[in-house]
Amino acid sequence: RTERGAALLEGLNPRQREAVVHAGSPLLIVAGAGSGKTRVLTHRIAWLLAERGVHPGEIMSITFTNKAAAEMKERVDALVGRRGNAMWVSTFHSMCVRILRREAKHLGVRSAFSVYDADDTRRLVGLVVRDLELDPKKFSGRGVAAQISNLKNELLSADAAAERAANDFERKVAEVYAVYQARLRTANAFDFDDLIMETVALLQRLPAVAEYYRRRFRHVLVDEYQDTNHAQYVLVRELVAPAAEGVEPGELCVVGDSDQSIYAFRGASIRNIIEFEQDFPNARTIMLEQNYRSTQRILSAANAVIARNPNRRDKRLWSDQGDGAKVVGYVADNEHDEAAFVAQEIDRLVDSGEIRNSDVAVFYRTNSQSRVFEDVFLRVGLPYKVVGGVRFYERKEVRDALAYLRVLSNPEDTVSLRRILNVPKRGIGERAEELVATYADRERISFAAALRIAAEQPERIPGLVTRSQRCIASFVQLLDELNELVERGDDTAEILEAVYARTGYTAELEASDDPQDGSRRENLAELVTVAREFAGDAAVADLDDSDVEVGAPAPGSLAAFLERVALVADADSIPDNDEGMVTLMTLHTAKGLEFPVVFLTGWEDGVFPHMRAMGDPAELAEERRLAYVGITRAQQRLYLSRAMIRSSFGQPNANPASRFLAEVPDDLVDWRRAEPERSAPVGRFGFGRRPTATDRGSWNVPKAALKASISLDVGDRVNHDKYGLGTVIESDKSTQRVLIDFGSAGTVRLMLIGGVPLQKL
Ligand code: ATP
Ligand code: MG
Repeated sequence: RTERGAALLEGLNPRQREAVVHAGSPLLIVAGAGSGKTRVLTHRIAWLLAERGVHPGEIMSITFTNKAAAEMKERVDALVGRRGNAMWVSTFHSMCVRILRREAKHLGVRSAFSVYDADDTRRLVGLVVRDLELDPKKFSGRGVAAQISNLKNELLSADAAAERAANDFERKVAEVYAVYQARLRTANAFDFDDLIMETVALLQRLPAVAEYYRRRFRHVLVDEYQDTNHAQYVLVRELVAPAAEGVEPGELCVVGDSDQSIYAFRGASIRNIIEFEQDFPNARTIMLEQNYRSTQRILSAANAVIARNPNRRDKRLWSDQGDGAKVVGYVADNEHDEAAFVAQEIDRLVDSGEIRNSDVAVFYRTNSQSRVFEDVFLRVGLPYKVVGGVRFYERKEVRDALAYLRVLSNPEDTVSLRRILNVPKRGIGERAEELVATYADRERISFAAALRIAAEQPERIPGLVTRSQRCIASFVQLLDELNELVERGDDTAEILEAVYARTGYTAELEASDDPQDGSRRENLAELVTVAREFAGDAAVADLDDSDVEVGAPAPGSLAAFLERVALVADADSIPDNDEGMVTLMTLHTAKGLEFPVVFLTGWEDGVFPHMRAMGDPAELAEERRLAYVGITRAQQRLYLSRAMIRSSFGQPNANPASRFLAEVPDDLVDWRRAEPERSAPVGRFGFGRRPTATDRGSWNVPKAALKASISLDVGDRVNHDKYGLGTVIESDKSTQRVLIDFGSAGTVRLMLIGGVPLQKL
């Protein structure tokens, strides 16, 4: 053992060490949150390099976000310097893009293929639905795209889907799938799910290709293994299969926590973890039980909540960090009050010198909940950063600009080409587009090729009027000119600026009175900055490294830029910790992260757990895992809050407390402000005390909605303006919901807030 190796094992507990030094058989590390799984993975990689003579190029490490990948890479670079570049550390998707580009020649696509994201996919599916003349209400782009995605995650082709279809709907979906798939290929594009499925297909179909990767990657490591779906699982299995007679299979090490599986809706299955030992009979399993992240109270809260889930292996996490502070509970009047509380509390902690803004994270269930926090934080001047949400790359103008780049990089990219055909407006109408599309379909050529024919030999496309032909011709010419810049090797930033200028995009925005167009211009400018920074990064990267991949886009090139942009994940924009900002994000994005102070907000039934999940035990269990993920992000301080009234779609709703709140043992919680007596009996969730006048005074919140409510008990008689006379048969005061029997008018469920046209008799 070298000195370096010994140093690597220091600061690890005996089980973690075992995992780091284990050699040979597949290794599964299952352990609760914060037990050092990710740390083991990074140390293991370092160990392989330092002690086992493994070359970085033999390592494939799969992480869930590009951000995690970057961190891992940094550590390895620190250990082995530039040689570290030969290691593959990436997400499943990035890794597959890399393999597919290398092997494009076997796939009948050009290596400059496009990667379609969810929005592109929905568009293309929508076009197919229309062309097949299906009812768009029954077959929405979004709905059918989700179905196709599920099929692909199960590695089912369109043919297989057609065979398995049990009803007319599924048969139609299979039909859309087949056409959609053909269109993708004509567009020289893959969607996200294809990336995995096609890579699997490639490895299974071409033994020589599979052998190359199996010989090359002697070590495959997977973090957050609980969130892999079937296709990703098969991919891993293919990679570590024996390369050839007499060649040892690659070593596999996966780490995960079945209690943190939160992507079932993307086809992830805990099955992968539970049955790992069956799938790999010689596997070794190591459990970790000590949590190094959180105080005992936080852990106990997490343990108590997750213990409610059925069918799980109980694992008791413990911590030697001491009890720590109690979990703080807060019941707000409404969502503004909740945000104000969070802001004030952060302010207090920062003022006391205990923490910095960057130590704090605020989590919520859905992206739309961020707005209120942003409003309040802006008002009080608290610097923050929202991770995810309406992402920069999803804004219309940014997508338009990227669509130009994609067309320049891959002219066959039909979705992008049709997107910009008439953006900015240049007189190419829908009818002309339709004629060209139909012609392309009939002649089995790409839309781009058909467009060129429309420009140069319009007589081949009957019905195309001269005006349209002229507009198309000048558009084709514009693309040709822009293409010259690409071929000349201009920087992506320069190409972008040329696109803005020559298409008239900037001019159009400048001429507009719409204030939003101002921010659109800023976003376009920002994209140029992104491109510039990207080129800068590439320039300092490994240009002389002998391990630069064949088939990978040249560093700094247009294709490399597009690849990077296509694969950004929400978590990639998490600020560096020195930026002095509070981080806001959804619970899903929080996976794998840790913060000294965590606010978990919106703990209301219908918000969290999500409305959709409430009637379904499996989905409810997944929501509970999400609660577990959330709680276990906290190192020292944890806050749980909810609002009694929350507006959605402009309607105030009285939401009952999240059932998960009641699952947190009461002795762990310090109710900074409990539920007022009038809407729920004190002690229902063991709330400690009633609100005082100071509580009420401090937040300055309109309570009109509450004041308007009336209180009804079972048996009370009422008169309703619309339903007439009735009798209350159920009354839940915590939610202000009642069930009233109006005789012949039926039984009606009502919420007793703001101006219900009803009198108590
Ligand atoms: P999650 O399930 O949330 O992904 P994890 O199991 O991957 O968590 P890590 O993020 O690797 O856990 O570790 C949690 C924290 O504990 C990190 O700050 C890590 O540096 C620290 N840690 C892990 N093991 C040890 C150890 N043996 N000694 C000291 N600190 C440790
Ligand atoms: Mg981890």
